[in-house]
Amino acid sequence: MSDSSQTEQDTLEAIRNGNGQAWGQFIDEYQGRLLRFARTRVAQHADAEDVVQETFASFVKALDRIQVTVSLETYLFGILRHEIVNRFRSQTTRTVCLIQDIYGAESSDAPINALDRQAACDPSVSWCVCHDEQQALQERTLAQALTRLVANFKRSENLRDLKIAELLFYCKLRNKDAAQLLALNPGLVRVVKHRCLKQIRAHVLQRRQAGDMTFSCSENVLTRIWESHRLSCPKRSTLGAFLLENLPVEWFDYVDFHLATVGCHFCRASFKDLQERQDSQQQESFRQRVMNSTIGFFSKP
Ligand SMILES: [Zn+2]
Repeated sequence: MSDSSQTEQDTLEAIRNGNGQAWGQFIDEYQGRLLRFARTRVAQHADAEDVVQETFASFVKALDRIQVTVSLETYLFGILRHEIVNRFRSQTTRTVCLIQDIYGAESSDAPINALDRQAACDPSVSWCVCHDEQQALQERTLAQALTRLVANFKRSENLRDLKIAELLFYCKLRNKDAAQLLALNPGLVRVVKHRCLKQIRAHVLQRRQAGDMTFSCSENVLTRIWESHRLSCPKRSTLGAFLLENLPVEWFDYVDFHLATVGCHFCRASFKDLQERQDSQQQESFRQRVMNSTIGFFSKP
């Protein structure tokens, strides 16, 4: 377990044990970014506050059942998004990034259908409508496959292909739109997509040989998993380093792409919250400096 997930587990335990101070700190920690996210999704400020309040309430109600397989931030964003989509059933509240609002819904199913098509060529894999009891297992397997895919891109610093995969699977753009945005040849985008699907499928087949499943892939499931795990979203600490311009140039470029070109609503909300905190810290430390340098004046007899 990493240090950050251990800290999150400790926080969760403290809240479960009814530690009011831990709960207060938890709200302080997350309310800024959640409110920022809600404000970009709903028109009225009061509605944004309502859904964030509801998110914390839902979190408390589910405390005993929460198994954090993603970060607490991602978990909270997941509840919040669900609250917003349920309450304001418009198309725009469903999108997770700005670029989807620009390119619209016409690009909707392209990558998923491609996965179906590729699998359909191989009769050894059955892609049928799945039973409920299999769904969780299948989604876990796909989540592992996608997590591994993204981790490989990051480890090898193949950020070009990570951007391609993100535009196709997270933003659901068509090949030609992704190619145009990245100023790449559409043929190259097709090849990268094919490679991604092949890796995902290889992982699924491996699991299947281990013995346990007839695999199926419903419409949009890859995108849903990518969204709910925020697979390509930079960590909060990386956003902080970006804010301080303290990242290697290729990673700085990637985070900039994720925030500005993709326009990930989750990360933009988190980033704006960081900016605000930095501004208020700077103001406070400036205030302290002024106080310290002038305090002698007031203590003079
Ligand atoms: Zn993001």
